[in-house]
Amino acid sequence: MLMCRDLARIASDYIDGELGPMDTVSVKLHLLMCGHCRTFIGSLRTSLELMRGHSSHQLDEDFARRIDEQISQALIARDDEQD
Ligand SMILES: [Zn+2]
Repeated sequence: MLMCRDLARIASDYIDGELGPMDTVSVKLHLLMCGHCRTFIGSLRTSLELMRGHSSHQLDEDFARRIDEQISQALIARDDEQD
C-alpha cells in the first residue's frame, strides 16, 4: 500500500501523467482513502499549472504564498491526525 510520504515523492509525476499504470492506480486508490493527499495533490497541481503558465490565473507572490501555506497546512494536519 502506498504511504503518504511515497505519494508526496511521486505526486508531480502523477500530475504530469508520467507514472506507470501500476503506480497511477496506487496513487488513485490512495487518493480515494486519504483526504489530506487529495488536498495536497490539488494544491500541487494548481501551483504546477501556475508555474508552467497553463492556467489563466495570474501568478503573483501573494497567491503563490497562499498555495505554499495550504500545502504546509495539509502536511501539518496529516501529522496531527493521531489525536
Ligand atoms: Zn495520504
